[in-house]
Amino acid sequence: MKTQGRRNLPARRSAGRRPPAPGRRRRSLYVYRFDQLGLVKRAAPTWDEVKGLLGGKGANLAEMTRLGLPVPPGFTITTEACNAFLAAGGAFPPGMWDQVEEAMRRLEAATGKRFGDPGNPLLVACRSGAKFSMPGMMDTVLNIGLDDRVVEGLALLTGDERFAQDAHRRLIQMFSTVVLGVDDQPFEAALAERRRRRGVENDADLPAEDLRALAVEFKQIAARASGRPFPADPMEQLRLAVMAVFRSWNGKRACDYRRAAGISDGLGTAVNVVAMVFGNMGEGSGTGVATTRNVTTGEPELHGDFLLNAQGEDVVSGTRGTLPIEKLAELMPAADRELRRIAGLLERHYRDVQDVEFTIERAKLWMLQTRDAKRTARAAVRIAVDLAGERRISRAEAVRRITPEQVDDFLHPQLDPEARRAARAGGALLAKGLNVSPGAAIGQIAFDADTAERWAKQEKRQVIMVRPETKPDDVHGLLAAEGVVTSRGGRTSHAALVARQFGKPAVVGALSLDVDVANRRLVVDGRTLAEGDWISIDGMTGEIFQGRLATVVPDLQDPHLRTLLSWADGFRTLGVRANADYPEDARRARELGAEGIGLCRTEHMFFQTERLPVVQRMILAAGPEERAACLAQLLPFQREDFAGLFRAMDGQSVTIRLIDPPLHEFLPDHDQLQREVTELQRKQERGEGGAALEAALAERGRVLEAVEAMREQNPMLGLRGVRLGIHMPELVAMQVRAIFEAACACIREGVDVRPKVMVPLSVDGNELKVERALLEEQAQKVMEEQGTQVPYELGTMIEVPRAALVADRIAEYAQFFSFGTNDLTQTTFGISRDDAETGFLLEYLQKGILAENPFATLDQAGVGKLMEMAVALGRGRRPGLEVGICGEHGGDPRSIAFCHRLKLDYVSCSPFRIPVARLAAAHAALAERDSRARR
Ligand code: PEP
Ligand code: MG
Repeated sequence: MKTQGRRNLPARRSAGRRPPAPGRRRRSLYVYRFDQLGLVKRAAPTWDEVKGLLGGKGANLAEMTRLGLPVPPGFTITTEACNAFLAAGGAFPPGMWDQVEEAMRRLEAATGKRFGDPGNPLLVACRSGAKFSMPGMMDTVLNIGLDDRVVEGLALLTGDERFAQDAHRRLIQMFSTVVLGVDDQPFEAALAERRRRRGVENDADLPAEDLRALAVEFKQIAARASGRPFPADPMEQLRLAVMAVFRSWNGKRACDYRRAAGISDGLGTAVNVVAMVFGNMGEGSGTGVATTRNVTTGEPELHGDFLLNAQGEDVVSGTRGTLPIEKLAELMPAADRELRRIAGLLERHYRDVQDVEFTIERAKLWMLQTRDAKRTARAAVRIAVDLAGERRISRAEAVRRITPEQVDDFLHPQLDPEARRAARAGGALLAKGLNVSPGAAIGQIAFDADTAERWAKQEKRQVIMVRPETKPDDVHGLLAAEGVVTSRGGRTSHAALVARQFGKPAVVGALSLDVDVANRRLVVDGRTLAEGDWISIDGMTGEIFQGRLATVVPDLQDPHLRTLLSWADGFRTLGVRANADYPEDARRARELGAEGIGLCRTEHMFFQTERLPVVQRMILAAGPEERAACLAQLLPFQREDFAGLFRAMDGQSVTIRLIDPPLHEFLPDHDQLQREVTELQRKQERGEGGAALEAALAERGRVLEAVEAMREQNPMLGLRGVRLGIHMPELVAMQVRAIFEAACACIREGVDVRPKVMVPLSVDGNELKVERALLEEQAQKVMEEQGTQVPYELGTMIEVPRAALVADRIAEYAQFFSFGTNDLTQTTFGISRDDAETGFLLEYLQKGILAENPFATLDQAGVGKLMEMAVALGRGRRPGLEVGICGEHGGDPRSIAFCHRLKLDYVSCSPFRIPVARLAAAHAALAERDSRARR
């Protein structure tokens, strides 16, 4: 049956696109049909530009259409149109709406249906889609084109009154909240009331007559709240929906998301207008989302959820319990086979894991979206390694695809297994939900996003946001929180997607939790927790515990990560060494891939409890004999320390830096001492204490005197580093003796020992000449005593500007350089490294005076220039001079890229940054290779 219904489209003004008349400007194209990818490519030749113009969703719908996949016909209004609309304060650019009308006519022709025709109605969805996916952050409106007459026609045509009424009430609800800005709550309340009266749990169980009544009620709600009647004209619905989607680009949640994800505000969103297909046409229909592999673990299997007799938003909102995708094979085997075929094809085509949205309308499968799937760090690594193993991508590509942050994620804390066992045994396990984003998080419960954000940001509290489900509006809370818990929702719910993307531990769908937001309490299994109570969650197992559990940093034993990092090692040219002071650190560093120790800060060993009193006695010694006696006591400690390091690093170099900090750092605090002495004096005046007090006062007084004698106004610029070594030669002589005695002993054990003795804070060649003579004499003496030769090197740190400026003179006496960029940054900027990061430096960063914190990322313009100079001068004087870096910047990816460009030999960083440094060094080498290939 085909009745002539109302036509909403104005009469056709031109038949198709005519070529522009000579000399006339070609009109701007703002609208492209999905089957016009060829035309798009004329304006946007690269895929990146296509995505920029059509948004990711539009580009992929066009690409899937080109591949011949079942995509409902439709068209995309470009991001350029959005930007022009927003720039004009909410007016479509000239010509755009004509192009939309023309595209609608083509859509009518393609579907054989007509927009607004009750006899054979075309309904469309209006879907946002930016260049970079921002799941759920912008608006979508479904079922556009329905009014009271069209609903009747649709019911007749489909023979399904319930379906037609359901589509109508969904349109009114969605359109009202999204386009007209009406609060969702009264709609939900009306639905709940109907469910209550019918005694059913789900909206899907409401009969047609209820839905019809709801549509009437919904329109009244909308009219009351918006102050105007609900728009009945389909073309007007479309126009308002397109405007709403454009405007949603500047909505709060989209802006919050962009800021967190580093997406530029200038990109704009496209709008995809797609012929509706219906997953809610009865039990033979359904809708779902799936990823071509498991995006939590990376396992190579189709993963996802679907719902029978539902529309897309039912799945992602998490309001109805979904079915796992494995069930599809039982319920609709043909659609399941087709989905698996297409999933495989898409993954091969895009050479990456895809996240697809599909709808089954009366057994026919339609693809509504595909995009590169967001994934956890663990999944990212496994997927990259597997894809390279399947020869879909190269190993270089696999390495490129993993970011340093993702590697870092493997080092995120996990719940301590012991604490977990005890908590389970002690009944602290509250619930178990879906494990959708790994890592442990511990925090105080906050029941809404604003509270979570306020507590975390203003009050510096650790927060876990707990919600029945999260909506895109909750993103700011999620970003501020340590982790998130929801009682509803599946693996593809917004909470899960966003948490995964930002590496926040998350447990969703913990059904036994009754999250009572109104009363600010959480009830589970008869237990009640209040807002502010502590919980601990494990995003890898899905467990939620009451209280604060201890965490541990895990072992990096993941086999896929090991494989990926071994591939990275094959590309990088920079060496990666560790800053490690103890054998235990050294062993861990080696396990993590360190190729030697780049910095052992020997003074750290002096702080151990049994040693500190000896060190203090040594510093305060009245004369050379007393000092020698103390040093003799310290010698065996240091010897054992070094022997431990040599054994742990058998066959690799161990750079041992001689004592660096000012001596007063080992002594008691001056002000504290003064208080103690004054207190003792008062007691003495009161006649308390007797001989014991007298002795204590004498001892404390002597210490205070010595501390005062050593006091400096600027200790970081005072008697430290090599100056200390020259001033107190017996101290470094002890250290050198310990190094060489340990080396000789290890050599006798068969250990391959490669010590490098490093002098800190040099400023001049002469200074190093003097120090070197002393060190060599001592080393020689020990080797002769021991009858063993040790292959060693002697070098220096470059950590003040003068050292960089006279690096050629220093290189005469140094066999290697290592940049101490912590001090070099401090002394180049003249900013104290200990105070600046808590003080004005933050203000400088906020005001944009400095773009980066120079103590975190190397200041290439200043500090970097000094380094460049030092490398050139040093290697000019001593060709092949080994140069590395051991300041904190050695573990920072961008600084590592700079070190690669400077052609340093290695970076040295803390053991837990080593995997990150290996990958970052590989990225730097691959970037250089790529830029050479482009030249
Ligand atoms: C440095 O200054 O960069 C360095 C590695 O030495 P420290 O941090 O011990 O001063
Ligand atoms: Mg230093």
